[in-house]
Amino acid sequence: MSSYMIFSPRKAIVGAGTVQYLGSETLALGHRAFLVTYRPGRFTATGIPEEVRNLLKVVGVDVVCYGVEPEPGIATIDEGAQRCREAGCDLVIGLGGGSALDAAKAIALLTKHDGSIRDYQMGEMKFEHPGLPVIAVPTTAGTGSEATKVSVITNKDAGVKKSVSHPLMVPEVVLLDAELSFHLPPQLTASTGFDALSHALESYVSLNATPFSEGLALRALELIGENLPRAVIHGADLIARSNMLIASYLAGLSLNAGVGAAHILAQPIGAVTGLSHSDSIGILLPHVVRANLDYSPEAYRRAAAALGEKVHGLDVNAGAARIVRALERLLAEIGQLRRLRDRGVTEADLDDILEVTLRSQMHIKTNPRPVDIDLLRCLLQEAF
Ligand code: NAD
Repeated sequence: MSSYMIFSPRKAIVGAGTVQYLGSETLALGHRAFLVTYRPGRFTATGIPEEVRNLLKVVGVDVVCYGVEPEPGIATIDEGAQRCREAGCDLVIGLGGGSALDAAKAIALLTKHDGSIRDYQMGEMKFEHPGLPVIAVPTTAGTGSEATKVSVITNKDAGVKKSVSHPLMVPEVVLLDAELSFHLPPQLTASTGFDALSHALESYVSLNATPFSEGLALRALELIGENLPRAVIHGADLIARSNMLIASYLAGLSLNAGVGAAHILAQPIGAVTGLSHSDSIGILLPHVVRANLDYSPEAYRRAAAALGEKVHGLDVNAGAARIVRALERLLAEIGQLRRLRDRGVTEADLDDILEVTLRSQMHIKTNPRPVDIDLLRCLLQEAF
């Protein structure tokens, strides 16, 4: 049996109101915090950044704020690391969805290294020592970035959106406070929640799945099946929001087992068309699952059951097919658009997406069905 490693944050504090622990957790790591969140806009209006700054000021922590754009780019990370260095900060706090958390993780590591994040993304340089410690405070329940060793960075010059991955990128401390996601609008709740589902499902059927990742993924699927529609419809339902945040974290941990073809294609779609990660995933996943069904039927059968489908008494293939029904039902309940063309992707984009995929994503080998150019083209055409 081959050996494997599992990476996870040192501490997660879970529950409504746990953002109150931010002051004491920060003081345990330093006195001058680089707070990475979004640029002023809709998120500022939630009052969350102000609340967090106040929590830190009250305990005597100096705060240097830095705003990033959704799906952050190279220049944002490089400039953030330079400012963090110049300000003499001793830790980084990421507050937001995957974009803010990914940026915080990359900035924290780059602050203690030379060069641009581009050099590490394109494999020309390697991280050799720890960066600043990171406290991750997610405000979406989707990417699970707070649990992973990955930051996804948009590189416009190279025409790619690509992960930078290193065990030193895993946050030290995570605060899972569902009250911070109350203001997330229904559309974003739906798409980010489906992203969490995709992590659980793609890692569950991954060729590198282990008993650890399977347990995490299966529980995440159960929680998502029960709670995602409720969280979309009733944004202030604390139980639904809490369960989605926990599911997203569990699914992030299960990503230790890797991802599948939906994730292989989603980053290139983002690089070429600007479509958000979670929207791409919502459109791709049912097609990917249909293409994979025969390669991992037993795992899909169990996943369908975890999402609430009745599979008892069905043979394994009929049970596996229920996963497609489960995804279609959930997508209909949460009101997601189903085609790339409905999101501004043109037919001419498909060749560019394929080209970027072949250039940047073919190192991912964990999809249960072998992935080649014909399969990718077929998936894109079906999703178009
Ligand atoms: P996001 O962070 O880009 O946020 C989307 C929007 O939601 C932003 O406009 C933001 O202002 C708003 N928002 C966030 N929280 C809010 C709240 N509580 N109330 C109101 N508005 C809020 O979205 P995301 O889907 O969380 O992250 C996407 C990024 O994460 C992509 O770049 C994707 O590639 C990356 N990602 C990373 C990993 C990983 O393991 N590191 C995994 C999957 C995806």
